[in-house]
Amino acid sequence: MDFHPHVYTGQAMSCTFCKIVDQQMPSTPVYEDELVYAFADINPKAPVHVLVVPREHFASLNEAGKDKQALLGHLLWAAAEVARQKKLVKGYRVVVNTGNDGGQTVDHLHLHLMGGRQMTWPPG
Ligand code: AMP
Ligand code: ZN
Repeated sequence: MDFHPHVYTGQAMSCTFCKIVDQQMPSTPVYEDELVYAFADINPKAPVHVLVVPREHFASLNEAGKDKQALLGHLLWAAAEVARQKKLVKGYRVVVNTGNDGGQTVDHLHLHLMGGRQMTWPPG
């Protein structure tokens, strides 16, 4: 299925995940629809490590306004859908690193879906 590339400006023009969404940079696709794109993390920290991103650019969870609640819910649903497709029947973890203290390194909102091993708590 083809999706139209979105128009982006300013910071988003240099955004790695915008480029991945627009197929200007390579990725290994896992799931996609009109709102979100999911792809394999390039440096996996678990046997299954997938990133789920909105096609629309937000620097972080903190920048997604109240009018984006449906999109945020859809991102969570998509993470669960990938987990079902990957048959993570024993469980999994969904993480949203946000800002410097949250350990965020790519400034485009993304959910980490991690599974296939026992997770520990608390995270580092
Ligand atoms: P975070 O630290 O929460 O911002 O997570 C960013 C994640 O993006 C890390 O797990 C990286 O391994 C991953 N990552 C960075 N660049 C790429 C890329 N080009 N393709 C796939 N994953 C990437
Ligand atoms: Zn972006």
